[in-house]
Order: sequence, then C-alpha cells, then structure tokens
Amino acid sequence: MQTRTIPDALDKLTHMGDVTLFEPAGDRPQAERPIREPKRYQSRSLDECITHLTTPRGKKPVLKTMVTTACEKDCYYCPFRAGRAKTDRVTFRPDDLAGAFDRLQHKGAVDGLFLSSGIIKGGVTTQDKMLDTVEIIRKRYAYSGYVHLKIMPGSEYDQIARAMQLADRISLNLEAPTQARVQALAPKKDFDGDLLERIQWANQIRQTLPPGQRPSIVTQFVVGAVGDTDLELLSLSQRLYRQARLQRAYYSAFHPIADTPFEHLPAVAPLREHRLYQASFLLRDYAWDVEEMSFADDGNLRLDVDPKQAWADVHLQHNPLDVMKASREELLRIPGIGPRGAAAILRARKQGTLTDLAQLRAIGIRAPQRVVPYILLDGHRPPQQLPLF
Ligand code: SF4
Repeated sequence: MQTRTIPDALDKLTHMGDVTLFEPAGDRPQAERPIREPKRYQSRSLDECITHLTTPRGKKPVLKTMVTTACEKDCYYCPFRAGRAKTDRVTFRPDDLAGAFDRLQHKGAVDGLFLSSGIIKGGVTTQDKMLDTVEIIRKRYAYSGYVHLKIMPGSEYDQIARAMQLADRISLNLEAPTQARVQALAPKKDFDGDLLERIQWANQIRQTLPPGQRPSIVTQFVVGAVGDTDLELLSLSQRLYRQARLQRAYYSAFHPIADTPFEHLPAVAPLREHRLYQASFLLRDYAWDVEEMSFADDGNLRLDVDPKQAWADVHLQHNPLDVMKASREELLRIPGIGPRGAAAILRARKQGTLTDLAQLRAIGIRAPQRVVPYILLDGHRPPQQLPLF
C-alpha cells in the first residue's frame, strides 16, 4: 500500500476519480463513467470526481468522493481493496474534506456531494467520519443542497438514523443477491447481517421521518462476476422495492481491474446491465412481477430483445389488445406505450374512436409502428409499414 503526504485537500481529491467509475449515483448510471485509458492504473483528475447527475433536486455537478481510499476489506473486484499495492491511498479528516467541498461549491464547480469510503477500523468508525464530514458541511458551511451518503456495512442503527437526517439519499450496496454470491465477491461482508438488515432498518427509520424529509434508499449490485443470475438479482430487487421501499437498484456490469483476484475474469457486456435496468423499471414502475419475465435456461434475460417486448411477443402477438377497450394496466404492457402514452390514450378515448396510427402519433405515441404487432385499432390490426430500405 502506498501512502504519502498530499497537503492540499483539493489535490487529494484528484486521487478519488475511480469512485465515479464504481459508484453509480444518478438517473443515468452508464453515463457517469468516464472513458478510461485501458492501461491507466488509477485515475488522477479532479474532473473525474465531478459528475453531472440528475438528482431528486434536478441536474447537478456532484462531487463523488471518499473519506479514505484505504480499506481493510478485500472485495475481489475492488480497486481500493486491501493489498492492491500500487494504489495510492489518501485519507481525509472530516474538517478537510468538508472544507474542500465548500471551496468547490463556492467556486460553482459542484452543487452536490456523493460520499463513500473504504473501511478502516470497522464500519462503525468509518461511518462516524462520514457523518462528521456531512455534519460540518450542513452546520458550519450551512450547505442545504444535495447529499448522497453511503452506509457502511456493519454500521449502527443510530448512525443510519443520523445519516437519514443529513442526506437526501442513502445507499447501502448489497453487491450480490445472495449470501453465497456475496461470499464469492466480498468474503469479509455478511449479506444478511451487515447489509440486508441495514436496508430494513433504513426503511423503518424512514417511516418515522416527516413526509418531505424522507431520504431515498438505493443499493448497487456488481453483475456477473460470480455466476449471479438476472433472476436472482431481479427477485431480490422486487423484494426490496416492495418490502423496503427501495428507490432504485443499480446494476454495475463487472469489469476486471488489474491487480485484483478477478483481473482475469471476462468483463460483462454492458447490454446485460441495460436489460437489467429495463426489467427493474418494469418491476418498480409498472407493477410487473418477476415471474412474468422470460429468462433463459441460465437464469438470465434475453439480450436480443427488451423484457417488455419479450413478454409481448409471447402474450400479445396472437392476442392483440383493442386500444379502445384495454385498461391502463393492459396498455402499459404494450411495447412503445409508457405511463404518458397510456394516459393520452385513455384521454383520447373519451373524445372519440382511435382508428389509425396517425391518431396515436398525434396524441404522443412516438413510435406507433412499434405498437402495431400488439394492438387492434377499430377492431383490426393496423397495417404494418414496410421499411423503406
Ligand atoms: S469494502 Fe470492499 S468494495 Fe468497499 S472499498 Fe473496501 S474493498 Fe472496496
């Protein structure tokens, strides 16, 4: 482990750029990752620590950083793991990190903080340092903007309660969907005790807070390094959406990091991550059930088609829905129709009969050709337009 003295807090921040690569935090997680030179061992740029995120408070330049990049744990995929000898480690005192954030915020470079950390002297001690940092930012610097705070594995109930008073969003990364998968990824983490139980506590605490002051709860999974399947990941996501009011599950396709035990494992295709997000939104926003989705024999979603279309190809192609009679829930099953499109159809139906694709386009269905295989208009299948080329 390399440790050296870097006097200026802003200089120190430049060593945290890898956080942006591994910690999705906004609404477009794939866009948060900087394009990296493949041979670079560690990112060293303040720019890479500042990510433009769509937060619950709008689009913001958010500083993503850590209290320390040293860690006593040895998660097999992580660039900050113990024993990754060439990694420069930097550690902030809460005062210094809060001050650096304040300087950046006053310069207009950032308006939001995502704070994570490696673990030194246990999750409780580390969580205290993170809480102290945010307390200083909130109290001494009177910053009332966006803060996303990570909860450390093993942190205490009262620490989570304090984090939820200070932050707009908290995340507790489960990393994998079962105890066995977590063991294979991160042998010093305890899935049930250190991680899952903390999400349940966070949900309990959240319900005691006044509406409007309830931070959202998110989690992250590392996808595909240890045989985890989409079925496992989505089943747990569904459980958390329903039982712990999880706001969002992030799925990070595994990418091998040099000088880690997983450096020779193949990278997971970004398309798998994309399909997981599509399926996850169906569970969260469209009230789908994971059992309705089609999985291949290996437990993964099809990559060649999105999960909604895969379902519609089986269930609607031979039983198309009559646009004038379908319920909102049924309309939402049609590929190309989302909540806004379904609402527009329901409104338009009150004005008269929808008989052709031009009417669908006029009310806001952006790709009417996409819906053609699955609907009836005026009791008939609409004509399929042949591609021009
Ligand atoms: S706890 Fe694991 S994932 Fe987190 S910084 Fe340490 S080694 Fe990395």
